[in-house]
Order: sequence, then C-alpha cells, then structure tokens
Amino acid sequence: MPLYGGGRRSNKYLVDHMLLRLGKWMRIMGIDTENAMPGFDDNMLGLYCNENQRILVTRDIEFSAVQKNSILIRSTDIREQIKEINLQIPVKRDDFLTRCVICNLLLIAYEQTDNGLIHEDVIGKRLQTCPKCGRIFWEGSHTDNMLKILKECGVYT
Ligand SMILES: [Zn+2]
Repeated sequence: MPLYGGGRRSNKYLVDHMLLRLGKWMRIMGIDTENAMPGFDDNMLGLYCNENQRILVTRDIEFSAVQKNSILIRSTDIREQIKEINLQIPVKRDDFLTRCVICNLLLIAYEQTDNGLIHEDVIGKRLQTCPKCGRIFWEGSHTDNMLKILKECGVYT
C-alpha cells in the first residue's frame, strides 16, 4: 500500500532492480537510498525493507500493492522519475552531494594536501570523501550539469 504525504525527509529508501538509475539520482539529491541487492527477489527485498525500515521505491504495481511502505513510480523516463520522486519526497538543495553516489554513505570533509594526488581543478574547492570507497566529491562543472538536470525536473526551484 503506497504512502502519501510529506515528512519523509529522514526516511530511508530502497530502489528495486528496475530503478537503479533513479537510485543514483536520489543519492545525488542526498536521499538515503540503497539499491536492490543482486539476486534478491521481491520477497527478499520486501523483508529487507521491513527489517531495516526502508521504504520501497518500485515500478511494479503488484509489488507496491503488497509492500506496506512503498512508493510506486510510473514512468520509464529518468527525468519523469525524478519529477515523481520530487513530488513524493521533500528534497533540499543543502542535501545535494552530501552522500556517496555509489555507497550511499554520508560524505565527510576531505582536507586537500600538497602531495599532488588531486587534480588542480579542485584547488580551493570544498572537498568531501566517502568513508567507505574513498571517492572524492566536489562541486564543479560536472555537478553543474547534475544541478541543471534537477532544476529542469523542478527540483531546487
Ligand atoms: Zn563510496
């Protein structure tokens, strides 16, 4: 049974196998979103969501109907899917790029050192790193494009 209404900012989500690309965008928006684990069927995903208090995000009408807390996504187009998520989950600009796009962990501040490991493009930028995978994130031309897409989808207006 789908949930409606606001107040979900602190909630956690899991996207099913059909929505992994949307999951990545949700993490870009700073929403706590795990991917469906490879090999997990609907039953296992449903149990995992229940045990971990994660709201299921699915395109499967039947799965959504039986899963207690779920959001049904209707579109197959990624931009339309982002719009649907934006209607269902309050998204804040401050949360943009606060979470590892791959691992879903919250990023921590990264102090730039002089050992030359970082490209000169990031000099003076606020750097963040993922405590799990060590990827380094910063706002620049690549993230400007993400912001542009999100704005075109009605997020951060
Ligand atoms: Zn990571």
